[in-house]
Amino acid sequence: MNRREFLKSWAAGIAAAAAPLGPAGCKKTPSGPPVAHRHIDSSACIGCGECVTICPMGAIVSEGGETWIEPDECAECGTCSRTRICPVEAIRPGVLSWPRTLREVFSNPLAPHKATGVPGRGTEGIKTNDVTNRYQEGFVGVFVELGRPALGTRFRDVERVVKVFRARGYALLPENPVCGLIEDPATGALKPEVLGEKAVSVLLEFLVPESAVPDLEGLLEEAARGVETVFSVSAALRAEPDGSSPFRRLFGPDAFLLPAGKVNVGLAAGIPGCKEG
Ligand code: SF4
Ligand code: SF4
Repeated sequence: MNRREFLKSWAAGIAAAAAPLGPAGCKKTPSGPPVAHRHIDSSACIGCGECVTICPMGAIVSEGGETWIEPDECAECGTCSRTRICPVEAIRPGVLSWPRTLREVFSNPLAPHKATGVPGRGTEGIKTNDVTNRYQEGFVGVFVELGRPALGTRFRDVERVVKVFRARGYALLPENPVCGLIEDPATGALKPEVLGEKAVSVLLEFLVPESAVPDLEGLLEEAARGVETVFSVSAALRAEPDGSSPFRRLFGPDAFLLPAGKVNVGLAAGIPGCKEG
């Protein structure tokens, strides 16, 4: 018998002995108003603590024999439920409503965005550029990623970055899922109700002309100022006509090039309307 099976049978024994009986001898089912976030059913939890380490946000707390999920820290990523770590299935999904639903669509890799139909963070980024041709010749795709497991990001940090780019004349790519959250396209301000919401990470995509690359460093420094989470940047570049990388030409000989990049090899070049990538 493995650890999970042991915990399950142990819990079943406790539940059978402790379950309150109704007038006809039936076990009572806990009832109450729906909970608006992922939570732990305290009547089912046996306090084993197994779920604590699985949470990428550190949102599950176990203290004094009780275990619970901190609603404000939970990003609704679903990891605790999806992994079936709980031997008694005490973790409940909750009934999410707007704007909390944002947490799930940006953090749960199985939850597709309604706006884009893409699960995970709601964007394919450069992966399908052969087909989408979002990142075109003469431009640099700038990806700003906010948050990562352990820290996450709030949408107020997302707004900060969008606003700084907007003030320099760069709007988010229309295919990016954050576009639907923008209240004021002139400034990049997001809908106020989303600012305190949290996601594991959010990927922002901008298109900047190659001629503006020398200004990028200052722009990114300004965007990162005041952001309260990890801020990482990557560039999406089209290959030169001879197949070589334009990275050194654009960013100079001293720029740090991470070898583990993503490369599109142009397999969709035969599709009508697609340019060779
Ligand atoms: S849904 Fe994700 S963030 Fe929330 S408690 Fe579960 S694992 Fe943690
Ligand atoms: S929710 Fe499940 S895994 Fe977490 S402490 Fe309770 S019984 Fe253990």
